[in-house]
Amino acid sequence: MDHLLDHNPRAEMTRELAHQVMQQHIGCPITLCAIKLQAKTFLVHTKRLVPQSTPRTRFGF
Ligand SMILES: [Zn+2]
Repeated sequence: MDHLLDHNPRAEMTRELAHQVMQQHIGCPITLCAIKLQAKTFLVHTKRLVPQSTPRTRFGF
């Protein structure tokens, strides 16, 4: 958890991590915080590109 607080992007992003990042870096300007940008981009993409073959995504988060 502690190294979530650096602002470098991760090699791998997951939905869980993205949500953690959005909370931990809530005060970071997205233009300066690479991992926040990565997390937000990830969440936007997972929302928009919901595969219809996975019914679980209907429940959202
Ligand atoms: Zn940050």
